[in-house]
Amino acid sequence: MNGKIIKIYGRHYNVLAGGRVFDCSLRGAIRRDERMKRFSDPAAVGDKVEFDILDDGSGLITSICDRRNMFSRKDSSSRKEDVIAANIDRIVVIQCYGEPRLNPRFVDRILVRGMKESVETLLFINKSDLADDFTRGYIQRYYALSGLRIIEVSALDGSGIDDVRELLGNGISVFTGYSGVGKSSILNSVYPGLELRTTDVSESTGKGRHTTTNVQLVMRDEGCGVIDTPGMREFGLMDIEPEDLQDFFPEFAKLRGRCRFSECTHDHEPQCEVKDHVERGDIDEDRYISYLNILNSLKEYRARRY
Ligand code: GDP
Ligand code: ZN
Repeated sequence: MNGKIIKIYGRHYNVLAGGRVFDCSLRGAIRRDERMKRFSDPAAVGDKVEFDILDDGSGLITSICDRRNMFSRKDSSSRKEDVIAANIDRIVVIQCYGEPRLNPRFVDRILVRGMKESVETLLFINKSDLADDFTRGYIQRYYALSGLRIIEVSALDGSGIDDVRELLGNGISVFTGYSGVGKSSILNSVYPGLELRTTDVSESTGKGRHTTTNVQLVMRDEGCGVIDTPGMREFGLMDIEPEDLQDFFPEFAKLRGRCRFSECTHDHEPQCEVKDHVERGDIDEDRYISYLNILNSLKEYRARRY
């Protein structure tokens, strides 16, 4: 049979096929496959798989189809790559007014990740019922030249929910953001009847980093669904070379070739066009600092590798 993995817990894989969900395990040979060694788990939510139905009604996954793309995480401390979701059509970063506080540096890392995978990435700012002009102005300036599409929404009073439903109208979307921003609340208002659990902000703060086992795909119908990734805090971008980081900041990439040094990383180099733009206020300074922050982590990682 052919199906799609919609949920993983431990070594169990829930596979959706023909409207039914099968509890499957993974054939040992797939786990031992050399090409799978770089991943913490060879299978991911969103994977298309082939499986056999066993006598007891459970399933055995016999092969995983090639992926169109993947949304994965690898930080400098972990040896293996966690694939959070496979075969996705868009990434939605969710932030909010109020608490937990808006964190554009987290958004920037995911934007880089999405651009690297050539997957459309959007920003939802939830809790617009708590919006203040200062924060709104700040974030608009921050992303003014980035090309990022920002959608304000409130799961509480329903504003923006129709836009969200339309934006998620086809394909598979990944929801990512700290716990407490309102991912479950938005999903519940967009797809009423799914009855997803919501958590209090206070309850969620103690969560660890390795929560990918809780990732699940909520399908609205064939070909349309949302993969909810609870409470992720860190995103490694260790597969990107420092010199290439600028390609994933569109407002910098536009200035490529205009600095004095052709290899300019827009850091300490003299006569840098990007820095000139920052000084003139044409590029937001905090966005630039966020770039430097990622750049330094990539440079440090490279220094440790050699
Ligand atoms: P998740 O951890 O990202 O899934 O967040 P939840 O959906 O569990 O929501 C976290 C908290 O934020 C809950 O206490 C919600 O009631 C609250 N919340 C969610 N959406 C909104 C909103 O639009 N406005 C306000 N004021 N609170 C919200
Ligand atoms: Zn430069």
